[in-house]
Amino acid sequence: MIPTVMPTYARADIVFERGEGMYLVATDGRRYLDFGAGVAVNALGHAHPHLVATLKAQAEKLWHCSNLYRVAGQETLSKRLVEHSFADTVFFCNSGAEAMEGVIKLTRKFQHETGHADRYRMIVPTGAFHGRTLATIAAGGQAKHLKGFEPTVDGFDHVPYGDLDAVRAAIGPRTAGILVEPIQGEGGIVPASLDYLRGLRRLADEHGLLLAMDEVQTGNGRTGKLYAHEWAGITPDVMGTAKGLGGGFPIGAVLATERAAVGMTAGAHGSTFGGNPLATAVANAVLDVILAPGFLDHVQKMGGLLWDALGKLVNDHPKVLECRRGAGLMLGLKCRVPNTALSKALLAHGLLTVGAGDNVVRLVPPLIIEPSHISEAVAIIDACCKELAA
Ligand SMILES: *Cc1c(COP(=O)(O)O)cnc(C)c1O
Repeated sequence: MIPTVMPTYARADIVFERGEGMYLVATDGRRYLDFGAGVAVNALGHAHPHLVATLKAQAEKLWHCSNLYRVAGQETLSKRLVEHSFADTVFFCNSGAEAMEGVIKLTRKFQHETGHADRYRMIVPTGAFHGRTLATIAAGGQAKHLKGFEPTVDGFDHVPYGDLDAVRAAIGPRTAGILVEPIQGEGGIVPASLDYLRGLRRLADEHGLLLAMDEVQTGNGRTGKLYAHEWAGITPDVMGTAKGLGGGFPIGAVLATERAAVGMTAGAHGSTFGGNPLATAVANAVLDVILAPGFLDHVQKMGGLLWDALGKLVNDHPKVLECRRGAGLMLGLKCRVPNTALSKALLAHGLLTVGAGDNVVRLVPPLIIEPSHISEAVAIIDACCKELAA
């Protein structure tokens, strides 16, 4: 008989009851060190006092009122995001996929409004992941996500990740934009070179295309900057983000320049729940912490510590680990054993991680991590590598 929860996930047989900072506690009382953060979502760990207090206070006042009215939390949140980014304007939604749908729609609308209704295609690197809606699985282009859901939404041309010449060659009269993750997440924590990102910016400018970024996972401080593209010293025209933005409360956002958002007028796009008072209150509280002086420095410092420790692990366990990669606190261990074997062993030893493509175990801990948690995780990874090598 089919489970009442539709069986679309291969779930571990654990039920969590509560979380405390860097730890999750299961119903059997077992504590786990959380280096998965609900797939890079719990940016401030679990039950962060400022987030809990904010959510409780907002819950007493107003949950939802729809976008038929002004929403104070959206106005504050958008102002802060604009102040700290390339963007002039922000659309709020509820998830990463919804944000990326918005990015794709905005790109088409921009070309339409600026006299190029024939330009609707986006160039996307292979290995990309943008969500599970019909358009975002087409954008991602992964056969395993598309199979059985045909016909595939038209309008995406795939080229090898990191290959600027391939992007240049793929630009045609129907091209509207280029869509890229600064670091591919689901694809296996594969960072783009900063020169590649700069090259994409140049190509977009030369050909009248929008440069669209997916910072659903890389954004919100994950790499030690508010957004990962900042490392390249360039800006996109439009960007989607979500995951860490709500610290566990569902919220997504489309950030855009005024020029790119030219067609996004009343009635052009919408979302019933998008940016409701609960979600925007919590996201504002997340920003209180992430934007506080020194917080992103902390992320960079902890990322550096973890990076160095992973380097030593790769050196010590050549039979199990091939290499480390990533940036900030978005790191991956490419395995020589099946990544599922390593993550299963880590789970048995009380460390939560997330699998990724290209046989990678993803380490995306809450950004509030301290050196003691890194030592604890490294000891567990070390023990598991010894076990797997034996
Ligand atoms: C997780 C993710 C998405 C999809 O987000 P959902 O909230 O699951 O819809 C899109 N793009 C990237 C890069 C992601 O990591």
